[in-house]
Amino acid sequence: MLENKDQSKTSLSQLGEFGLINHITKNFSIQQQSTIKAIGDDAAVLDFKSKKTVVSTDLLVEGVHFDLSYMPLKHLGYKAVVVNVSDICAMNATPTQVTVSIAVSNRFPLEAIEELYEGIRLACDFYKVDLIGGDTTSSTTGLLISVTALGEATEEEITYRSGAQENDLLVVTGDIGSAYMGLQVLEREKQVFLVNPQNQPNLEDYSYIIERQLKPEARNDIKELLQKLDVKPTSMIDISDGISSEIMHICKASNVGCNLYEDKLPLDPQLINVCEEFNLDSTTIAINGGEDYELLFTVSMNDFEKIKGNPHLSIIGHITAEKEGIHLITRENTKLPLKARGWNALNEEE
Ligand code: ADP
Ligand code: MG
Repeated sequence: MLENKDQSKTSLSQLGEFGLINHITKNFSIQQQSTIKAIGDDAAVLDFKSKKTVVSTDLLVEGVHFDLSYMPLKHLGYKAVVVNVSDICAMNATPTQVTVSIAVSNRFPLEAIEELYEGIRLACDFYKVDLIGGDTTSSTTGLLISVTALGEATEEEITYRSGAQENDLLVVTGDIGSAYMGLQVLEREKQVFLVNPQNQPNLEDYSYIIERQLKPEARNDIKELLQKLDVKPTSMIDISDGISSEIMHICKASNVGCNLYEDKLPLDPQLINVCEEFNLDSTTIAINGGEDYELLFTVSMNDFEKIKGNPHLSIIGHITAEKEGIHLITRENTKLPLKARGWNALNEEE
């Protein structure tokens, strides 16, 4: 559908590079005070006044990071912005700007690039970040997207992976594991479709987990939530590779150990059902499945009363001395060493 066989579609060469850039960026507006000059000169100009600037970048490659046979381009554009905004949120900063660079082959008509940028625009609007530049070039085969996100925070607000202290509580936002199982369902349906293209999948029972995979959201609400609760996180990271791997990162950077409690993991009921259907252990999926883009952070034990019972936050463990190691405490109260496998490793196992 997206490929350039249909003569009614507009080929990119008809517009030329500058025509294309003008066309795809014309619907974007500027919302941030810190944006002095956005698209249209040799470089953008920003002014963060007394705030610190936080920068993060990601490169997404077709066939490696995304599969266009089940990921619509609009969702891809949205997700490309979200994963970068999430990294800014994981520093306890406020996302403010993005740049987007694309390499695209003539396999894609203008209409496909419009769809991609519609997703990018929706994410920019939703997260109130300004598109301030990028680059556009051709590729011989697939699609490449690189997004750089910028954000602002005061020096006190910025939260590193390295600040976790012994006895701190380990907290996660939202629920985990669903994005990974959403991908498993989409991959299964793709295989069914390849065998029998007439077969229309019924995905109603999987709507939540598929949405978590195709349209993840960054937790840009958490900085404000913690501020309101008068809680300063001691360390923070976002969950891109799976909570097990992210816990390892915090522990390594902070020189601490950790106990994670199986019975405290926040799992959506739909995830539990799908794990049963696939005959997979939901705990394994929850701790190793990636791409949830929730935030994992630590807070002082003194803040327990302030976060206890908050619907956005689950206390899932606590920080120990480094020599005690990193463990999962199971429902049966056995202590298993936690391994950082990440969700790529999980895929390879199958
Ligand atoms: P240069 O030749 O200096 O690299 P370009 O002609 O590539 O400049 O870009 C012109 C303007 O359009 C710049 O402001 C640039 O940041 C912006 N731009 C180019 N490509 C994109 C894109 N894919 N998305 C957003 N902005 C873009
Ligand atoms: Mg350029």
